[in-house]
Amino acid sequence: MNLNFLQSTRTPQPSPLTASQAEGNSQASIQSDQTELREQFWTRFTLDKLTNNEWEALCDGCGSCCLIKYIDEDEDGNVDESLVEYTDVTCQLMDCATGYCRHYATRQEHVPDCIQLTIDNLPNMIWLPSHCAYKRLYKGQNLPSWHLLLTKDAVATQQQMRAANVGVAGRCVTEIGMDDEEMETRVVNWVKP
Ligand code: SF4
Ligand code: SF4
Repeated sequence: MNLNFLQSTRTPQPSPLTASQAEGNSQASIQSDQTELREQFWTRFTLDKLTNNEWEALCDGCGSCCLIKYIDEDEDGNVDESLVEYTDVTCQLMDCATGYCRHYATRQEHVPDCIQLTIDNLPNMIWLPSHCAYKRLYKGQNLPSWHLLLTKDAVATQQQMRAANVGVAGRCVTEIGMDDEEMETRVVNWVKP
């Protein structure tokens, strides 16, 4: 059994969904982002049949996958989902105020082990949080009720995510300067695998 730290990336560039940005976003821009999406695509097509835009639209930008977590792995590399523990410590590139990667486009120049979530590696990322749309659809579950694809209202989604205690913005800390001992004290229960 190995204990690993892992950092992952939200797969493609997430849409901003902080309250201020959401309020600044017009509904038109949200709708235009969704014009290329097939109606109810998440219920009609399997993940491997999605277009790139549809794949991107599944990410709600919660930032949880950028948190450092402890993962139990057996000797074959299998992960015991029930033993995954998230901390509130984020990757060095995270802007902890907004909950977004500060250099998303060039992140792998700064953080080479940032993982690109794809249909191929999704089965190996069972440690993703239980609310993550990719994991939920992969497991045959529905989108979370607050997902932007369902609400079509960024402000409502933001409010509902807060109410559901989802998202790292405003309550994470950077890994910079943190030693292993302190990291171990920062396990949180507001993200579950
Ligand atoms: S580089 Fe950016 S996307 Fe990747 S784990 Fe860090 S904050 Fe997240
Ligand atoms: S946990 Fe899932 S929904 Fe949240 S940012 Fe990561 S990939 Fe996107």
